[in-house]
Amino acid sequence: MNAQPPVKNLVIVGGGTAGWMSAAALAKVLRGRYRIRVVESDEIGIVGVGEATIPAIRLYNSVLGIDEDEFIRETQGTFKLGIEFVDWGRLGNRYMHAFGKLGQDRWTVDFHQYWLKLRLAGRAAPLENYSINRVAALRGKFMRATQEVPNSPLADITHAFHFDAGLYAKFLRRYSEAQGVDRTEGKIVETRLHPHNGHVASLRLENGEVIEGDFFIDCSGFRGLLIEQALQTGFEDWSHWLPCDRAIAVPCVSAPVLTPYTRATARSAGWQWRIPLQHRIGNGHVHCSQYVSEDEATAILLANLDGERLAEPRTIRFKTGKRRKFWNKNVVAVGLSSGFLEPLESTSIHLIQSTIARLIGFFPDGGFDPVLVDEFNAQADFEMERIRDFIILHYHATERDDSPFWRHCRTMQIPPTLQRKLDMWQAQGRLVRDNGELFTEPGWLQVLEGQGLLPRAYHPLVDVMPEGEVTDFVGRIQQVVSRCVDTMPDHAEFIARYCKART
Ligand code: FAD
Repeated sequence: MNAQPPVKNLVIVGGGTAGWMSAAALAKVLRGRYRIRVVESDEIGIVGVGEATIPAIRLYNSVLGIDEDEFIRETQGTFKLGIEFVDWGRLGNRYMHAFGKLGQDRWTVDFHQYWLKLRLAGRAAPLENYSINRVAALRGKFMRATQEVPNSPLADITHAFHFDAGLYAKFLRRYSEAQGVDRTEGKIVETRLHPHNGHVASLRLENGEVIEGDFFIDCSGFRGLLIEQALQTGFEDWSHWLPCDRAIAVPCVSAPVLTPYTRATARSAGWQWRIPLQHRIGNGHVHCSQYVSEDEATAILLANLDGERLAEPRTIRFKTGKRRKFWNKNVVAVGLSSGFLEPLESTSIHLIQSTIARLIGFFPDGGFDPVLVDEFNAQADFEMERIRDFIILHYHATERDDSPFWRHCRTMQIPPTLQRKLDMWQAQGRLVRDNGELFTEPGWLQVLEGQGLLPRAYHPLVDVMPEGEVTDFVGRIQQVVSRCVDTMPDHAEFIARYCKART
């Protein structure tokens, strides 16, 4: 039997995506043995953006037992096969970071090394032709992966979702309440600490109600009500690497073609997102206030919509970086309260998911053993730093010289961890993925190549294969991918058939 008393009362502060994702997962895993309470304030509201995801979210859904079609229907969702980057490496350039596999690896050498040999000799087709996700995305096609055809790229289709953030929080709230989670509406005006150990003891609401707990999950958004305002954990600022600090968001009417991918178009001092949903398109201009005014940024956004706007533009301010500790005393920060990497690679919702998974793995007893807390924090730091490096790559590896913003990004110092990856790539096309980091080799490959970085050489063992065999091997994959995509339905048709929203 454990010597320490168990943690019994969990209080989740905040009812945005982070709050309800935490509540739903904990309710499922803790099976009613713990009390879970969510406190949220309708008056404060949620950030209301965060509508593009990465494929790992499907694991979250499956742990919860969520039916995917139902989920898409309820959130006005669409499918996402990757992110298209426009004007990043240079003006006029376009590439996609598509999810999933690229080509077909041999046991000796990775596929991309064979492609590199042809590319360096000026004889290769575009890299994207070898990704089923990319070819399907460009042709507006979608279906889920199938194992029905043996050894087919159709088994490699890897998808994520776009959804309406407000509807997603409501969907998870219904799920959580059905699992026994209590919800309290009210504004927290005071956080009380235990005098002997500085742990959070209780929260006082505006109406005088006091909420006590043993363990607090801070999902209060950028304000970090417990982790920062009460515990003063501190913030590690990364804005010297990721200088964008504002986003202007505005929805507009849908376009005739329902594209199964997010688009990120670089602008003179930032970039613009385009996220197609069933009932509207979400748009936003992420920018750096040091280089462009809010009025100019708004004008750029509004001049680049697919159609009529559906609401007034709204500005969101942020600073990139992370809390010095995700877990401090008896508080774990999840979501925006733990820090923020800008949304370029749609990683925030994933970080919520992985923090919850880690929290379940390290679930404490009442002793809150610092050894476990330290390990939790070290793992969280590693994960976020590696994602940060991947995002910095998009800004730094550019030839753009057309604005002060891009000149800054191109010439800035980068973290040594990223420099090592660039050096390995440039030496011989080597892709280094350290233990457990989020982005896979095909992800790094597509962004490195897409941004215009080519290595000096390829893996020497590629030359073991005769020249003609390399050409045949690489060419065959391209044909098979293309033929597979021919058989796929249109994205819009797929949605109409299986998961059309009711309104
Ligand atoms: P919020 O949504 O801000 O929720 C905070 C909650 O705390 C609210 O319920 C609020 O009422 C409550 N609260 C706060 N203070 C109090 C108080 N005193 N009393 C009671 N309740 C309180 N992520 C992605 O994965 N993909 C994307 O495409 C993406 N795009 C983004 C674009 C932008 C511009 C930004 C800023 C973020 C984006 N994100 C994206 C991140 C994503 O939006 C967030 O990770 C996600 O919405 C989680 O937010 P949250 O729940 O932490 O905070």
